[in-house]
Amino acid sequence: MTPQARTITELLAAAGAQRFLEAPLTQDLGLSEGLPFPFLALVGQSEMKLALLLSLINPNVDGVLLIGNRGTGKSTAVRSLIDLLPDVDRSLCTYGCLPEDIETGGIDEVCPDCARKYGEGESLVYRDPVQLIELPLNSRLEDVIGGLNSRSGAHHRHRLNRGILARADRNLLYIDEVNMLDDQIVDAILDAAAQGAYTIRRGTLAATYRSRFVLIGSMNPEEGRLRPQILDRFGLRVLVSGLKGKQQRLEAYRRTIAYRANPRQVVRDYAEATARVREELQSAREAVTKLRITKAAERYGLDLINEMGIESLRAEITLFEAARARAAADGRTVAATKDIRAVASIAIRLRRSEFMDDFFKAQGKEQRRLQRVLKQSAPVKKKPARS
Ligand SMILES: [Zn+2]
Repeated sequence: MTPQARTITELLAAAGAQRFLEAPLTQDLGLSEGLPFPFLALVGQSEMKLALLLSLINPNVDGVLLIGNRGTGKSTAVRSLIDLLPDVDRSLCTYGCLPEDIETGGIDEVCPDCARKYGEGESLVYRDPVQLIELPLNSRLEDVIGGLNSRSGAHHRHRLNRGILARADRNLLYIDEVNMLDDQIVDAILDAAAQGAYTIRRGTLAATYRSRFVLIGSMNPEEGRLRPQILDRFGLRVLVSGLKGKQQRLEAYRRTIAYRANPRQVVRDYAEATARVREELQSAREAVTKLRITKAAERYGLDLINEMGIESLRAEITLFEAARARAAADGRTVAATKDIRAVASIAIRLRRSEFMDDFFKAQGKEQRRLQRVLKQSAPVKKKPARS
């Protein structure tokens, strides 16, 4: 590692070059479970790493979908983010009141207790790292949105339980094999993602939970296709293929073996670089809210989208927000055309639907015919009489 390395992109490049040739292959007798492979030790896959980091810097990129075969390291990469997750503000109140509610909607937007605290200059929030919440494939709808806690105690009192979507608030929600998910659950997730909150009703009980999360999905297209609605919900799309080249594969093999033999050592080897990247991510996350994008970069981005014939407005949201996140990662205050170019593939691909193309073509034919019929059947206009 060069001690001068500053930006995340520099740190990533430096960590990627770290060699494992001399990794000690001692047997580690401790428990390795829950000790994720360091993100910085992942070999290659620069698109996947970039997309994941951009989604941590700027939640407005609207999540990441990783598409690829089994064994290409998709879930390893997602789980390895744990040590990099930045801090966020979380509400101290059971109703989830936040200072930003007051800033956007006035003092009546929070509960009386929080209104009083705010007035007295007390904090409504505490700092806590973003968590990685994994949605298990066998989850039931009740686990996802929450439900009645029917553990009948002495008083047979019922309560509502928070579901996974409520726990995912201000966190990362990771769904492996997202294409295999039950339709009902997909709909619940999409609704919550669109609203940033959801309400559950059971009999006379009702509760509304905040649910603003960064959605990360991974899938193997061999195992089933993804519904277009859910594909559209993922901002960045990464095609993850196996490592190319003997050197990279050999290096990946060495790191995996070193990690299996002694995970703690590998994590220790990367601890310092990991801590620095985490710090950089935190400041990039704060800087991105004030970061500008140049007019030229905006024009260039819109031209790309137009050239590619993309209809969905989500394309430019993701493209511009990802460009801003990249500039922040690079320690700049303005996003430029080069940032658009760097994120264009992951922001723009898989946005065109063949079905819609065919549909519009067929509609075009019908429209032309309709115009012809309308013209032929037009009532003859009388010329106004000259005076
Ligand atoms: Zn409150």
